[in-house]
Amino acid sequence: MALSGLKVIEFAGLAPGPFAGLILADNGAEVIRVDRPSTPSLDVLCRGKKSVAINLNPKFPSGKAAMLRLIASADVLIDPYRPGVMERLGLGPDVFLGEKGINRRLVYARMVGFPRDGPHRDMAGHDINYLALSGVLSILPGKEAPQPPINLLADFAGGGLSCALGILLALIERGKSGRGQVVDTNMVAGSRYVSSFPLLSLLVPSSGMSRGDRGSRLLDGGAPFYGVYTCEDGRWMTVGCLEPQFFAIFIERFAKALPAEFSVGGWRPSAHDQFDRDEWPKMKEYITRGFALHPRDYWTKVFHGTDACVLPVLSPEEAASTPIPSPHPLARTWPVPGHDSLHLEPGEHTREVLRGIGLSDREISEHSLPEPHNPERINPLLHHHVHKGVHPRRSRKGPFILVSVVSPPLNPLQHNKPGDFWVAIDARVYDLSRFMNMHPGGVSVLLDPEVAGQDATEAFYSLHRAEVLDRPQYKRLQIGVIAGQKSVVAGHVPGQLSQVPYAEPSWLTSGYHSPYYSENHREFQKAVRKFVDEEIYPEAQIKEEDGTRVSQELVDKMAALNINAMRLGPGKHLKGLTLMNGLVKPEEFDYFHELILTQEITRCGARGYGDGLLSGMVIGLPPVLNFGSDELKARIVPEVFQGKKFISLAISEAHAGSDVMGLQTTAVKSEDGKEWIINGTKKWITNGVFSDYFTVGCKTEDGFTVILVERGPGVETKSIKTSYSPSAGTAYITFDNARAPVGNTLGEEGGGIFVMLSNFNHERWVMCCGSARSQRSVVEECLKWSAQRKAFGKPLNSLAVIRSKLAEMMTRAETTQNWLENITYQMNNMSYKQQAGKLAGPIGLLKAHCTSSAQETAKDAVQIFGGRGITRTGMGRYIEHYHRTIAFDALLGGAEDVLRDLAVRQALRVMPKNARL
Ligand SMILES: Cc1cc2nc3c(=O)[nH]c(=O)nc-3n(C[C@H](O)[C@H](O)[C@H](O)COP(=O)(O)OP(=O)(O)OC[C@H]3O[C@@H](n4cnc5c(N)ncnc54)[C@H](O)[C@@H]3O)c2cc1C
Repeated sequence: MALSGLKVIEFAGLAPGPFAGLILADNGAEVIRVDRPSTPSLDVLCRGKKSVAINLNPKFPSGKAAMLRLIASADVLIDPYRPGVMERLGLGPDVFLGEKGINRRLVYARMVGFPRDGPHRDMAGHDINYLALSGVLSILPGKEAPQPPINLLADFAGGGLSCALGILLALIERGKSGRGQVVDTNMVAGSRYVSSFPLLSLLVPSSGMSRGDRGSRLLDGGAPFYGVYTCEDGRWMTVGCLEPQFFAIFIERFAKALPAEFSVGGWRPSAHDQFDRDEWPKMKEYITRGFALHPRDYWTKVFHGTDACVLPVLSPEEAASTPIPSPHPLARTWPVPGHDSLHLEPGEHTREVLRGIGLSDREISEHSLPEPHNPERINPLLHHHVHKGVHPRRSRKGPFILVSVVSPPLNPLQHNKPGDFWVAIDARVYDLSRFMNMHPGGVSVLLDPEVAGQDATEAFYSLHRAEVLDRPQYKRLQIGVIAGQKSVVAGHVPGQLSQVPYAEPSWLTSGYHSPYYSENHREFQKAVRKFVDEEIYPEAQIKEEDGTRVSQELVDKMAALNINAMRLGPGKHLKGLTLMNGLVKPEEFDYFHELILTQEITRCGARGYGDGLLSGMVIGLPPVLNFGSDELKARIVPEVFQGKKFISLAISEAHAGSDVMGLQTTAVKSEDGKEWIINGTKKWITNGVFSDYFTVGCKTEDGFTVILVERGPGVETKSIKTSYSPSAGTAYITFDNARAPVGNTLGEEGGGIFVMLSNFNHERWVMCCGSARSQRSVVEECLKWSAQRKAFGKPLNSLAVIRSKLAEMMTRAETTQNWLENITYQMNNMSYKQQAGKLAGPIGLLKAHCTSSAQETAKDAVQIFGGRGITRTGMGRYIEHYHRTIAFDALLGGAEDVLRDLAVRQALRVMPKNARL
């Protein structure tokens, strides 16, 4: 991560300072918050940070000494106090950066509300006051008086974000000069700076931003086509069609969605009325009354997919699947090391951090540094909740379970106050006292008599996936184990095989045999699984949700092991490469190795991200390898394998999917005959959003030709929203007089159909590998769930109807894998040409079988999971995802029906003419 290795000392505060620290922590810096002892922290911006509680009271000189030592070892300090405070503590910039400074490389970031040298410097203030002095508040909307956008503008944009930017600039400068420096941020100036656009626009008399008084201008509620409107159900829609062409679309759609007779006293707006200010009152009334006729979701549908610039106002819950905002922009790899929580106990890391700077335990405790944890202190919020929720039967002292024999020994007396809440899950003891109020499922579930005061193992696993306890934010709540009890729940250990029946193909199941796999395949599988579990799986879960593409860091790691090259199967392209750290020799790499690689990657269970993980390369690069000129291959292939450049296959068009011959993108030669000039569009192109190269199917003078087009002038890509994650980078592409050298032709001019068709076998076979593996994962999920879910007092798997569904699923998983292995064996023993001739039909048939059986399995799995099967988070999250995205396979790489037909036609072609019944 960009800031790994940097140590940041953040003096505790609220809002802007912690936000600056959060940005640094999210990007890999070690951020240590300095808390005052015995002060509870209300800060929620503490993800990934550590806390030390150090007494800086002059009566405790050892506190200051420790602080100086800590800052002497730091790269950045964030000072959120009023002017003079740090100097009074003896920790001002001079101590570190001055002539005799003890850390002259320190970036000393200071953030104050009012300018340090102005008349308000010593006054208390808050966001609203800073905004007032910045001049920005006076131009903000609001009915009678202007209203601030809560505390976003001065505290976070003008304060925290500006401060973090200043720190980054100072770090760059330090890299050049070797010298630290002071970064000065004040929120008055910061608010002005982030408001440069409206403030500067006010200076331009003709600007819509400056015409009229506050409330009558373009963006502050004056213009009817830029505002928020209330719908019939009380929810809101935003309208922002500033440009005439967008306004015209808005007016047309809006009018169409209203009753034919709808008007304001016979008046209806037309596209020409947009900037006629005299018409604005009528227009506003028309739009206001119009929106009030239908609920928000109705309007959402009316405008979805158009350029009217009209979108619904979403609640925070609707806007994101998790209540916690993800870091943005993303320039790093998740997960953030350290804890991931809304709460950071003041002083939690005092010992760890101070030991890290060389203080002995004796120094830490003897020199009067206060103990970090004060067991007497109870968060007032929790206290309140517990008292409200306490069940009279449970305990006079609070809803706690008494765990008296724990290891390490904990003093049971620590656990006897209102607000104390310990829970035992699978022989482990968790202190939920502080967390219970943040429990996503609510406090009441925890106060249930089945949970509080009980061993909560069964209740926990009936509602949570085992992996939840592995998340750092929950792991840290564990305070001990119950002595003498053993954990009975088998958690997933990265790299290990599952012990659930049918969860692994038979060749990986203990006691079973296979003729296809060698010892080398087994070693290879182990190494790949470990890599996937440790490197790919964690990133996949996050990026599938946040929609961002695979990180460059991971691509680089894959490239280092030559995984990218191996995903194209055996062949000359592997020559000279070290595969998986030398685990398999290039000449020994076969299609079973590739099958293993694909199946292990599929286990990450994130379909959009999985496709984003360079599927475009898997289908787009083979035509270059097999049909490109030597010069082209030498240039393109290494940089794609090394993850420096990305490539997509661009065949499908809005007009031509299954019917490849119907494609309409044209390529004609330039006058000098040196270049292709390409015009047309392509649709659903995987990885297209971020690809540098496109293997494009084009119509040319004498048929079809495949051409490698580089991103450049005339090539535009736009993300297409599909039912899976945008991390796949699915694109709509426009070629508008795009140019490619004639040397980029792949195969013969006019011979494109052969190039495109010969590519299909490998693509389809790869998809079968993925499908067989993911069906198996569904079987594992269903077997686990039907064993742990109880209905009518019995596990689901005690019902014959459920067992029958499981039997069908297992059968489908086994048939696909076994058939796939047979075909893979044929591929290992056939030349590329023989494969093209003999396997197109069987692979097509296998793919159709895979995709239809996968859809059946998805349907059965949803049934078994019930409501959870359609719920994006929690127990059924894998099944919901699978069911939502499984239809994709039946379409891409050849639609199911088309492939069945192809297989039969291929078979008919070799029917002996004399065959008779
Ligand atoms: C997730 C995803 C990723 C994709 N990635 C790429 C990519 O990277 N590059 C790329 O070029 N394309 C890509 N595609 C496009 C994909 O190749 C096409 O969707 C596919 O070829 C089907 O074309 P179509 O969607 O236009 O369906 P159509 O061709 O319109 O077919 C619709 C349906 O009609 C039926 N049908 C059509 N013809 C026949 C026939 N002859 N016999 C029997 N039934 C028939 C089938 O049931 C078919 O599903 C992707 C698609 C998806 C969904």
